[in-house]
Amino acid sequence: MINEYQIKQEICEIGRRIYAKGFAAANDGNITVKINDNEVLCTPTMVSKGFLKPDDICKVDMRGNQLEGRKKRTSEILLHLELFKDDPTMMAVVHCHPPHATAFSIAGEDIPSCVLPEVEIFLGIVPTAVYENPGCQEFADTIRPFVGKANTVVLKNHGTISWGRTLEEAYFRTEILDAYCRMLYIAKGLGRVQRIDESHVKGLLELKEQLGYEGDPRKMQNADLCVNTEFGRGYNGGSNGGRSSVPTTQHVVTGTTAQPPQPAPAATTRPSAGGSAPANLEALIKTVTDEVMAVLK
Ligand SMILES: [Zn+2]
Repeated sequence: MINEYQIKQEICEIGRRIYAKGFAAANDGNITVKINDNEVLCTPTMVSKGFLKPDDICKVDMRGNQLEGRKKRTSEILLHLELFKDDPTMMAVVHCHPPHATAFSIAGEDIPSCVLPEVEIFLGIVPTAVYENPGCQEFADTIRPFVGKANTVVLKNHGTISWGRTLEEAYFRTEILDAYCRMLYIAKGLGRVQRIDESHVKGLLELKEQLGYEGDPRKMQNADLCVNTEFGRGYNGGSNGGRSSVPTTQHVVTGTTAQPPQPAPAATTRPSAGGSAPANLEALIKTVTDEVMAVLK
């Protein structure tokens, strides 16, 4: 039998982790757990996820009507219910605003694949949903195209949503995605993002099946394994300036910092370069010397 109080405690614990990780500022984010075909436990609106108490957790039906709870249910419940309705195996949903993953959508960058083994196995392709203002059915509808094909989606200019068979699995997918996006950002700062080759990715997808995760849509549809984004290609050409790929030494040689040292070597080579000024100087010295010697004689 389901122990509702225990699930409420688990929701509070995951809320604390989301808040501690910086995935939800102020009252951002929401968490839901399906407890049977008709009922879902969810976080309340306008309460920080870092300080939830089991008593704060609400219960709603599959249309979002509040059944229990002394606080008002989350305003994003429709988004969560969309996933439960379309995928009966999914039991928990986590929505929050992890900064690194959200930054990708703000910058208009898709999440590249074929970079990190954990992402291939635990996430697969991470699509980005189109933008809609939060809270309405149109917003909830933005994730419908990805139900059954993904387990984690970036919400354009908003945040992320991930779902799973358990609450911790749903949360871990968010945590993996944000860590991944952070690594990509750091790697790109170092130069370019290099990818795993497709033959190795095929091996990872086989391992994914052996571990009991649902079939990867890329394998089932015989689709491209690697989402080839501009970010994934990295700075490998001059078209975007190649700022990070140009070795620092080139800047030293050709840039403005190279100019101050130039006069010094030029000055030391000037006398031996044979210009007219040194020749005149020698002639002048000889003339003066000759005149002095003539007077002394
Ligand atoms: Zn949100």
